[in-house]
Amino acid sequence: MRYVSTRGQDEELNFEEVLISGLATDGGLYVPKIWPKISQNDMYSFADLSYQEIAFQVMKPFTGETFSDEEFIEMIEKAYSKFDHEAICPLVQLSKNHFLLELFHGPTLAFKDVAMQLIGQMFNKILKRKNLKATVIAATSGDTGSAAMEAFKKSELVDVFVLFPDGRVSEVQRRQMTTISRSNIHALAVQGDFDDCQSLVKQMFNDPKFRNDLNLTGVNSINWARVMSQIVYFVTAAVALGSPGRKVSFSVPTGNFGDIFAAFVAKKLGLQIDKLIIASNQNDILHRTLLSGVYSKEGLKETISPSMDIQVASNFERLLFELYDRDPKAVQASMESLAIDGKFILTDNALNKLRQDFFSGSVSEEMTARIIKQTLNQYGELVCPHTAVGLAVANKFCEFSCGVPMITLATAHPSKFPESVKRCTGRDPTLPNRYADLFSRTEEVLTVKNDINEIKTIIRERTSI
Ligand SMILES: *Cc1c(COP(=O)(O)O)cnc(C)c1O
Repeated sequence: MRYVSTRGQDEELNFEEVLISGLATDGGLYVPKIWPKISQNDMYSFADLSYQEIAFQVMKPFTGETFSDEEFIEMIEKAYSKFDHEAICPLVQLSKNHFLLELFHGPTLAFKDVAMQLIGQMFNKILKRKNLKATVIAATSGDTGSAAMEAFKKSELVDVFVLFPDGRVSEVQRRQMTTISRSNIHALAVQGDFDDCQSLVKQMFNDPKFRNDLNLTGVNSINWARVMSQIVYFVTAAVALGSPGRKVSFSVPTGNFGDIFAAFVAKKLGLQIDKLIIASNQNDILHRTLLSGVYSKEGLKETISPSMDIQVASNFERLLFELYDRDPKAVQASMESLAIDGKFILTDNALNKLRQDFFSGSVSEEMTARIIKQTLNQYGELVCPHTAVGLAVANKFCEFSCGVPMITLATAHPSKFPESVKRCTGRDPTLPNRYADLFSRTEEVLTVKNDINEIKTIIRERTSI
């Protein structure tokens, strides 16, 4: 499999190169040159397979020659050995036609583990093979950071630096990042918001000398391997509910558009999906785009679903490439307009295509709180605020059409956001046993200014390269 950049200026790469480089040097994102297909017969045969076996079948066309089958199977097994549910991503039935897909059974209690645990395995394999070391730099709105740290904490070949917005992640999220206590893992609390963190990371990647000196590599959701690993649970969930014999819809709590883009890819591969539902909190750039055809930046709002407090959805660029029939010029023009005017306008044709596959909604803080309470009262399920956003928009969609099973993604465990969950329900969600001592562990964190030069200096000093 070859990969191309959405902006068309980069040379084609193979999977290994895409994995390690993360962001294309022309500023675009890598996408497969063609979409492989899974036949309906193969889909039927998935009914008898485990999560890990389906993962191998779904991802193999994307990784091509990078790993032998034996290697890849072993990496998948290892990646999911630390999940605390045998099904890896189990489905829970809420009502006649509404299901929750629980994605929080990994080490850090959010769906980011599903991709990151596998990426950790893949990085180590490739670096060892090439006798290289690398520096992973990631910006996080809360969950990516700890997932990356957990995935690499035993690696001797990788240093991890995570930039998170100081004071804007939950205490559990912060402690998961600051209590790992390994010399290759570094938590940096940036005096700014998530978009500042993301912009700092981008600036480091855009500095060729810094990038080369440290062998920088990114594991944010713009890394194709993240998206690829997330395709799998859309397939396993649909298959569990009778796919390809019947269609399903997915409601996806959305921030950077990575997770829901993985669902879109699943549809491209041949999965029978009816609608993909973009569920946003008050940071509703995508919902406004579906309504008006204008993708325009607005100020960031802080919400009780902080992992979705994002102004621009980086992965939307990958969808844009598809909406414009893979014309990199059209993507380039949109992105230039976004950089200069803070917005771009979709053509009518692109907007119609977008609305065919997707439905969207934006949920108020009050509604999010009400849904958390209702879900406990009606179904006995405690959900995190992000999941509640997904449930709210799924309910709204079902007012129009609910002919097929609706699967809402439960993206984090409620105990990651105990303050909000308790305020809404009066209940204290309990942390799983492995985190029983989280609040007594010693924290190690460096508070840094939103200043690219200062941060670069700190990273240079601390990396082992
Ligand atoms: C990252 C995250 C999201 C948003 O996912 P995207 O891929 O960025 O759209 C939603 N919920 C939780 C709990 C997350 O950690």
